[in-house]
Amino acid sequence: MKLGTRGRYAVMAMVDLGLNDGMHPVRLADVSDRQEIPLSYLEQLFARLRRHGLVRSVRGPGGGYLLAHPAHRISIMDVVAAVDEPTQVTRCQSESPSRGCMANRTRCRTHDLWAGLGNHIETYLDGVTLEDVCRGPQPAATHYLDHNATSPLRSEARKAASQAMACAGNASSVHRHGRHARSLIEDAREIVASYVGCSPLEVVFTSGGTEANNLALLGPDTRRVLVSAIEHPSVARAVSSAVTIPVDHHGRVDLEALEAELAHGGGPALVSVMAANNETGVVQPLEDVVHVARQHGALVHCDAVQAAGRYCGAWQEADLVSLSAHKFGGMTGAGALIVRDGVPLAARSRGGGQEYGLRAGTESLAAIAAFGAAVTAARGDDTARLRRLRDDMEARMLDAVPDAVIFSGDAGRLDNTLAIAHPDIDAETMVMSFDLDCVAISAGSACSSGRMEPSSVIEAMGFPSLSRHAVRLSLGWSSTPEDCDAAVRAWKAAHVRHQTRRKTA
Ligand code: PLP
Repeated sequence: MKLGTRGRYAVMAMVDLGLNDGMHPVRLADVSDRQEIPLSYLEQLFARLRRHGLVRSVRGPGGGYLLAHPAHRISIMDVVAAVDEPTQVTRCQSESPSRGCMANRTRCRTHDLWAGLGNHIETYLDGVTLEDVCRGPQPAATHYLDHNATSPLRSEARKAASQAMACAGNASSVHRHGRHARSLIEDAREIVASYVGCSPLEVVFTSGGTEANNLALLGPDTRRVLVSAIEHPSVARAVSSAVTIPVDHHGRVDLEALEAELAHGGGPALVSVMAANNETGVVQPLEDVVHVARQHGALVHCDAVQAAGRYCGAWQEADLVSLSAHKFGGMTGAGALIVRDGVPLAARSRGGGQEYGLRAGTESLAAIAAFGAAVTAARGDDTARLRRLRDDMEARMLDAVPDAVIFSGDAGRLDNTLAIAHPDIDAETMVMSFDLDCVAISAGSACSSGRMEPSSVIEAMGFPSLSRHAVRLSLGWSSTPEDCDAAVRAWKAAHVRHQTRRKTA
């Protein structure tokens, strides 16, 4: 695509105005000098920009032009459109399907290709504002160590999603488009089922982990719900009357307390214990949890959102299991609840009969197709590689700050997760400091209404004084040794900055 001179010059001139402080009008003669655009040409362009309400003129000495709106409210496409510059990439002048670009009035074979490209360009230019261009490229957080928050989309998942997006069908429709959509969903269901070791009939697609957890906790007809003290809020807050089972200082659920609570009686119970914790990575003794629960006739739900795609284990034995695609390279917007055959569950959403009547609503085709592709790709991941990277990074960070605290380090942990606290630097400062050094990590504590709340997980483990200090570094399929080197550098830099501040205070 070749953007014409008018559009390019208009954007350059508008950016010139945007770089001005906005208080003083800019003379077109100055813009002409700086941008090397003929003055007479600029005058014509500005007449159009003014007519479209993008600039206003100030007359008299010291006069010139000002942006008519703040730079963040003017898109590049606004400017290009104002000077009538078509972002035309097809030689076909006609948009009418009946009038083609060939001599015989048919369309050339590549018409739709170029027309699609033209639409993409316009959408792109619409999404970029004058302010974006004036600000210039921002240093991105180029080292991403926040896979437990969300993992970058895998190329396999992107491809599956984009192929699915080409399918117009609703999986509930009986025509060929619908049947195609249905087959993509059923393929993904088979992949998920084979990974978990269950029947495809036991896989209920949801919009993600939160919805799966809510369905699991609210769907069964149980009188008592028991949850561990370090569950994700989508479990912990699902049932207000739930009994909390404490964890030890590694973050592992107290099996004796669980057994004692179940032994109290009081009707059918549901026990919900996660497979691996999102903040510390600690792996729960799920085999024992299932054993204890079954002895007391209780159902077991396992939030395997952080475990799935990373390791297989006893979580697969639970009666209900939650999964989320975006934690291991799928898209947000797809997850699943595994509902083992015979587990009584009532739907929480009413509507169509999708997902065996347990989750009404049209399935998100692209996200589900990407889910299947991400599961297949994740099965080939070398998790030992991540463990080596994590362990080495952890050792170097401890070396630099020997009184730093590692959480759940002596317990079984996910290979990809490191939760660490610098005793003198709070988590928020540490995350910002890493961000300055282009490394993306997370705070254990959550931000709520603009205030940093202490990490409830670290508190439940018995470290209240460190609950505002714990940060999480989480690796994944895209992590490299360079990411870990950058993290160690950022950690050391934060430590040095802190020491310097303390000396000068
Ligand atoms: N469960 C755990 C352990 C999580 O870490 C998360 C997300 O961070 C969720 C559930 C929620 O998953 P989703 O983001 O797919 O709703």
